[in-house]
Amino acid sequence: MPKARRRHHAGEVTRFAPQGTWTTHRTKPTREQHLGSHIEPDPTTGCWLWNGQTNKAGQQREVYTVLVGPIPARHRLRHTCGTSGCVNPAHLTPTPPATR
Ligand SMILES: [Zn+2]
Repeated sequence: MPKARRRHHAGEVTRFAPQGTWTTHRTKPTREQHLGSHIEPDPTTGCWLWNGQTNKAGQQREVYTVLVGPIPARHRLRHTCGTSGCVNPAHLTPTPPATR
């Protein structure tokens, strides 16, 4: 097993997985890796904190869709960890619209 290293330098991109394993590769950045470059994992809570400038709600959906799959129609992502900036798909649960 190669050692997972958290490095963030120009020319390197970070690859991530919901389980929290991170490795770096010198490859052409993909959409997934671009997202990874804006995520700071919190080792205490396991949360992935979004540090990008764009809106967090949109990024949560983006990360979830890339790593997990499509979000069911009209569902929104609800945090199970209570951290508003968290984009870790393991902490996000698709929730159907409220019924009445
Ligand atoms: Zn979280």
